[in-house]
Amino acid sequence: MSQRVVSLSLGEVILKGKNRKSFIDTLMGQVKKSLHDISHGKIYQDTGKIYIDCNKEDQEKIIKRAQHIFGIVYLSPCIKIEKNIPSIEEGIREITRETLEENPEFKTFKGDTKRADKNFELNSMELNNIIGGQVLKNFPIKVDVYNPDFYIYMDIRREVYLYTKRFKGHGGLPLGTNGKGLLLLSGGIDSPVAGYMMAKRGVKIDGLHFHSFPFTSQRAEEKVVKLGEIISTYGGPMKIYSINLLPIQKEINKNCREDEMTLLSRRFMMRIAERISEKNGYNSIITGENLGQVASQTIDGLTVTNDITRRLIFRPLIGMDKVDIIDISKKIGTYETSILPFEDCCTVFLPKHPKLRPTIKEMEISEEKLDIESLVEAALNNAKIIEIS
Ligand code: ATP
Ligand code: MG
Repeated sequence: MSQRVVSLSLGEVILKGKNRKSFIDTLMGQVKKSLHDISHGKIYQDTGKIYIDCNKEDQEKIIKRAQHIFGIVYLSPCIKIEKNIPSIEEGIREITRETLEENPEFKTFKGDTKRADKNFELNSMELNNIIGGQVLKNFPIKVDVYNPDFYIYMDIRREVYLYTKRFKGHGGLPLGTNGKGLLLLSGGIDSPVAGYMMAKRGVKIDGLHFHSFPFTSQRAEEKVVKLGEIISTYGGPMKIYSINLLPIQKEINKNCREDEMTLLSRRFMMRIAERISEKNGYNSIITGENLGQVASQTIDGLTVTNDITRRLIFRPLIGMDKVDIIDISKKIGTYETSILPFEDCCTVFLPKHPKLRPTIKEMEISEEKLDIESLVEAALNNAKIIEIS
């Protein structure tokens, strides 16, 4: 039987010019790490794709695992064959036989050859003719060039690969190739999606969560940890800094206008995020904010929150519709956890009528009544760090 491999097609990574080699190396390292407990052979590159030698029965497991790695657009279970016509013909028969055993309903096919090795003796059209000839001679199915039941893909690289299945990866860029980001992670639908989207652009993510224990429950924290675990299946091991915002909320509640509660809390969250970033080398802060979703996310609301830090703030959901955010959260598997009914800190002191046109000046005036520095210090000193592996 022929050697089995899994092939990984790289998306934007291969367009990255001078960084290309380091991107591919990073990706290979991540593939290797993610497969640490699945048996496999050599992981190698062949003309712009990554291949993993393996047994047939491990192909599916490897694909499921590697599917979460950013930078990969397609994954295929392949057979690898020797680069000569008799082996190619035999390989075509083998992959077709297997595909038809798994899918007896298939009646039509089409050959699709890519010849990365331009020195190979036959060109793509001639190779497609070989596929057609072998299949028509040996199996009761027909060619359909417009709408085939399946494709027989053949890649002529340093070696020759044949496959009939392609699974979609998440695309994006390899993790860690775009710095470190601190994700403000609430228990809601939006922030996990925001984290996923930035991780997908190569940002290595840790979380920062604010709770209001004992006003919020232990289960609310467990929910956030669960969300962290799901995000980490894409973003790798992560930390969650968990901080009690209650002492700050109480001070705001005691000293400031009720309608400024949310915005002032938000500014404290940003201050704390800024301090943690400064100390731990996060070069971006990420939030799930979305323009116009609630009073604190109007242009004015975002302006006063934004004002706290000069650090780059990513708001990848800013222009999206809620239905589209929900679709992503379902796709990445955070939705069911996000809708569990445990409240995070924000709902505790929610003003009945939040301020609608806040200005930075007004915020600053209100904050004069608070000892900002010691409140932030105390919050940081009481931070708990949860490690998610
Ligand atoms: P989410 O699904 O993120 O909770 P939301 O619609 O509830 O979205 P808000 O509660 O207004 O949005 O919060 C906007 C953003 O502020 C969140 O996406 C998150 O990044 C941050 N944030 C809000 N509450 C918290 C919290 N308790 N801890 C950490 N970050 C928070
Ligand atoms: Mg929220």
